Amino acid sequence: MIRSGGMVEPPSLEPFVDRYRRLFVLTGAGCSVNSGIPDYRDADGAWKRSPPVTFQAFMAQEATRRRYWARSLLGWRRIGGAKPNAAHRALARLEAAGKSEILLTQNVDRLHQAAGSAAVIDLHGRLDHVRCMGCDDVSPRPALQERLERLNPDWLTLNSVVAPDGDADLDEVDFSTFAVPACRRCGGVLKPDVVFFGENVPRPRVEAAMRHVDDADAMLIVGSSLMVYSGFRFAEAAARAGKPIAAVNLGRTRADALLALKVEAPCDEALAFLL
Ligand SMILES: [Zn+2]
Repeated sequence: MIRSGGMVEPPSLEPFVDRYRRLFVLTGAGCSVNSGIPDYRDADGAWKRSPPVTFQAFMAQEATRRRYWARSLLGWRRIGGAKPNAAHRALARLEAAGKSEILLTQNVDRLHQAAGSAAVIDLHGRLDHVRCMGCDDVSPRPALQERLERLNPDWLTLNSVVAPDGDADLDEVDFSTFAVPACRRCGGVLKPDVVFFGENVPRPRVEAAMRHVDDADAMLIVGSSLMVYSGFRFAEAAARAGKPIAAVNLGRTRADALLALKVEAPCDEALAFLL
């Protein structure tokens, strides 16, 4: 494995991208950092802040849903207004050049699509949609934002820190007065249409992505430590199939032992040759 370290200039990704015809591209939070959406994990892959809410807690406890939506009310104003950066644009160019078999993203911010990528699978769902857990109705997140703001005008003045999933840090706040809207059709529990921790990625989505591993001749990981198995399994599958894997990531990744090339640099710098 070629690896950069210390003061040494990171190796270029360009020869790897030139060498292979169709790349399976897998992206993570590191891609969106320059769009103002912070990363969950530090260079060692450890949590920078408390882990996000689990699916089980969200579904079981009204108090958890109150806390989630109160944070999301504040976080959405930042996430919803985020714009794609040079890393997203570079990967859209890769697709336009016919070199991208698929772009599988662990991000829920839709910034790859905003940059012009079309062949994208949102592995962990999309934050701009809300799903009813009762009737499965899908509605736009901005419409729910209006309902949340109308029901909870006093909450809009709170200061907060925003996480990658649009969740905001609100310590020592009493959430018991926060009003959570229910589904307009059936009164059911509304949940952002993203895969929570403790929840499985829908099987058809995983299978669709796996088929692209077969059709690609190499894999490119951009801005992910792959600490979550839902993403790591694609690196495992590529390695099993003998496909070379390159990664752009600041710090350790769970796939380090599987890599043919590692570029420890910010995503936009490592991909700048594509622009
Ligand atoms: Zn419903």
